[in-house]
Amino acid sequence: MNIRILGCHGSQVPGCNTTSFLVEENVLIDAGSITSTLTAEEQVKVDYIFVTHAHLDHVKEMMFMVDNLWYLQKSNPLTIVSIEPVIHALKTHLFNGLIWPDFSSLPNAENPVLRYEILEVGGKRNIGSFAVTAISVNHTVETVSYVIETGQGSMIFIGDTGPTEEIWKVANSIEDLKAIFVETSLPDEMNHIAEMTGHLTPAMLMKELFKLNNKNLDIYLYHMKDFYSKLITRQVAAMNQNRLHILEDGQTVRI
Ligand SMILES: [Zn+2]
Ligand SMILES: [Zn+2]
Repeated sequence: MNIRILGCHGSQVPGCNTTSFLVEENVLIDAGSITSTLTAEEQVKVDYIFVTHAHLDHVKEMMFMVDNLWYLQKSNPLTIVSIEPVIHALKTHLFNGLIWPDFSSLPNAENPVLRYEILEVGGKRNIGSFAVTAISVNHTVETVSYVIETGQGSMIFIGDTGPTEEIWKVANSIEDLKAIFVETSLPDEMNHIAEMTGHLTPAMLMKELFKLNNKNLDIYLYHMKDFYSKLITRQVAAMNQNRLHILEDGQTVRI
């Protein structure tokens, strides 16, 4: 299983892309950086975007991708998958006919370029070749993690979050879990802002990882605010844990 890191940053400046992970060729986790990183041929191959939450750094390039797919004449609709509050926010505030067209009825309602699929929190659903479960986490807006079971091992992508509980319990219940992707947005000195904005610092991450029984599991860290990335990297390195890996844009993680 290849996971291509199209973007893994929590802020956008030149050289830093916001969150998007491409799982194999046809599934995206979040859409912060897709049209700026994938060729037209690669964009046409994407069938599903699993959206963790509606914040702009996680959704912004789906707008341009859907527009591209219409002109590239993709044969099947692109499916945006998430929980109801996230889909509602996308429909109401982005694909609303004002900010951007409602592509779920274009070119016509029978064969649209875009469709939505709503997941119930905690309910497992087969989507494409994976079994997917959305689990709520603790951010400033409704946000989920995705548990993705592939048949050759499972992965968890934790959306933006502060300290949280349920996803760690779920992680402890999965026997073939291979990797967890989790944010570390801010340095320890900004603990108060992390608490205010629903994010983690390295010290907060450490407390979260105490909730995980498997102490050898690979943990991939992302969503750093770039201005503090050197400081965060030093603080993560000081934990002296081989299982922690800081992601980079353009990297491919093999699981
Ligand atoms: Zn974010
Ligand atoms: Zn967010």
